[in-house]
Amino acid sequence: MLRARLIAMLALALALALTGCGDSDKDAAPEITYESAQVAEPEETPVDESDGAEVVEEPDAVEQPPEVSESGPEPQEPLPEPASEQPQEEQPQPQGVAYLTWNAAQYPDYYTVTGAAAYDPAVVPGTVAYLPLDRLGRATGVVACITGAQRAVARDDTRDDDDAVDDDPVGWPQDNQIAVVPGITEQDYKGYLWNRSHLLAHSLGGNAARENIVAGTRCMNVGQCDNRGGMAYCESRARDYLDSHPNGWLYYAVTPAYEGSEPICRGLWIDMRSDDASIDQRVFVFNAANGYQIDYTGASAVGYSSTTVKAAPAEPVQEQTPTQDAGAAGPESPSATYVLNTNTGKFHLPSCSSVDQMADHNKQEFTGTRDEAIALGYDPCGRCHP
Ligand SMILES: [Zn+2]
Repeated sequence: MLRARLIAMLALALALALTGCGDSDKDAAPEITYESAQVAEPEETPVDESDGAEVVEEPDAVEQPPEVSESGPEPQEPLPEPASEQPQEEQPQPQGVAYLTWNAAQYPDYYTVTGAAAYDPAVVPGTVAYLPLDRLGRATGVVACITGAQRAVARDDTRDDDDAVDDDPVGWPQDNQIAVVPGITEQDYKGYLWNRSHLLAHSLGGNAARENIVAGTRCMNVGQCDNRGGMAYCESRARDYLDSHPNGWLYYAVTPAYEGSEPICRGLWIDMRSDDASIDQRVFVFNAANGYQIDYTGASAVGYSSTTVKAAPAEPVQEQTPTQDAGAAGPESPSATYVLNTNTGKFHLPSCSSVDQMADHNKQEFTGTRDEAIALGYDPCGRCHP
């Protein structure tokens, strides 16, 4: 092959030399460069160079390569774990994803950090991609790389009525009860046991599509009664980072972990990594509730098969024992009662019109100072300006 080309080149050079006698100096130069290019071998080299000169890829390429090269090797090792989620098309039912089993002593806040994020550097900032529902109608995940600008839009969105368009996710317990979930290191929670949990929170730019919703316990959503655990742990970190880095971005991917064909997930994997890598975590959030044997099969209307606690008979969320909260909080700033939307991450004055539009299961009363509500990761509503 090479030899054939060489012969062809020589023949061409000979032909040029023979025909181009008139200006031999000028012809000689092209011959030399042509031949030296031949020796240097592949014609692909010039092609690569021209690719590199393409303007189209530069904007991404400028910012990303540093991160990729720094972290490339690391995140790729965690990847094999979730690789068990390979969508095997031959099977009628999608494969499950590995998950951890909850226990109160080890995971009182309903989440655990298992290592560095399974980070995909190919996901460019600004991406919010909902993976398609599987054949059982279950949400399979969201992959996002949220920019500070996207977060700002979500934060400044004065609408807080997204619950109105929420459908029931697959496996949704039709008899969602007001329950008491005993606290582990915090006070007990009393309210709806099940939440329509958004994989990507509204406060991070998530929508209310079915691809973004799973049936999750209150504890998976926000942890114990202090709202600092569960998904809220990740969401508040994400909000804090993007609010303090308006030009930054945060890779944020959520993957529900199902056992076999169960409609209700065992928990969620959340991978988050900031552009400066100050956040780089793979987190598992448990779909569990202290004192309840969760029924992930969807067979039980209440969503659990047995319990060591009795369901609360009374009406919706109340009973936050404000006296204890007030005592624990500093005496300086005046505390008031606010209404938290655990779905959108906003807080309101009780009189705000948005509160009426809010679904009960996302409503939570909070007694404390404005600063404390913000410290929990909540944003003041744009309508009532609490
Ligand atoms: Zn409001």
